[in-house]
Order: sequence, then C-alpha cells, then structure tokens
Amino acid sequence: GWPVLAVVGRPNVGKSTLVNRILGRREAVVQDTPGVTRDRVSYPAQWAGKNFTLVDTGGWEVDVKGLDREVAAQAEAAIDRADAVLFVVDARVGATATDERVVKLLRSKGKPVILAANKVDSDVLEAEAASLWSLGLGQPFPISALHGRGAGDLLDEVLRVL
Ligand code: GDP
Ligand code: MG
Repeated sequence: GWPVLAVVGRPNVGKSTLVNRILGRREAVVQDTPGVTRDRVSYPAQWAGKNFTLVDTGGWEVDVKGLDREVAAQAEAAIDRADAVLFVVDARVGATATDERVVKLLRSKGKPVILAANKVDSDVLEAEAASLWSLGLGQPFPISALHGRGAGDLLDEVLRVL
C-alpha cells in the first residue's frame, strides 16, 4: 500500500487544518474547541505525483485522564502504523511540557519526524518558529495551515523521508 503519514500534536495546534491544506479540500473537521478529532481518520493524499495515506489524529494531552487518554492512545496507535510522522506545534504558543513528552515518545518509536511550526501567518512569527529547534527534532518548518504559507516546503521535506 501507500506510505502512511500520521499528523500528531496537541489539541488545537491546527492538525486538521493542515490535513485539509494537504488534501486541497475541507474534509477533516476543524474546530475552535480542542479535542474534536477523536479517532484516527485516513485520507488518500498526493503531493508532487506521489501517493500517500494521510492520517489525522485527535489531540494529545499525555497527562490527562478519561477520554483524552483514549485520544492519546489513538494517536500512539497512528504513530505505530505510520511510516513517518508530521509533528505539529503551535509556534505562537511555543514548546509546551506536553510537546516535550510527545517528542520523547516519538524518539522511542524511531520513525522519521518532520516538525511543523504552525500558525506562522506572517514573517514576524518566523522567530517563534526558529525557537522550536529546542525540541531537538531538527529544522522546524514554519507554516500557516490556514493560509498555506510554507506548506510546499514542508511537503517537499515530507516526501524526502516518506
Ligand atoms: P487540531 O485540533 O490540531 O486539529 O486543530 P484545528 O485544525 O481544528 O484548528 C484549531 C484552530 O486553530 C482553528 O480555529 C483553526 O482555524 C486554527 N488554525 C489552524 N491553523 C492555523 C494557522 O495556520 N493560523 C492561524 N492563525 N490559525 C490556525
Ligand atoms: Mg483535529
């Protein structure tokens, strides 16, 4: 089958918006309320002539109980099934403790990880994106899932590892 790219990250960082951006249509559910994507949702996607399966996941709060823990388990299952992971961080918020914990888990899985610094809607936010080098995942790719900024460079990098 096609290689699988899982999109993971905390709730509300813009995962579903990015999935829609990559698909070129609004298929993944975007919500202002965090944690709406409860399950893994797979979509056939294409970039630069290459087909792959894009998996949107629910948000990730490692420390919380109940349903959110279930969401985290779903996201981990998505990582296990993926060939590469697109890890989305909100550049306006910066790296949180939860982001750091997800990084540890990603490291333990040993899959290629591309770091997307989302919500960089303009040049002035590039510095916030650069601060995400601190996560130790290599180059943060500044993007605006909402406006499409940086999405091409990000996807070119994704295809290099997929
Ligand atoms: P998810 O929970 O990670 O899937 O996040 P969503 O895709 O549902 O988006 C959460 C909120 O962030 C929505 O209000 C989006 O419109 C907003 N959002 C997503 N991407 C961007 C972006 O690049 N810039 C800005 N300013 N807002 C964004
Ligand atoms: Mg979502």
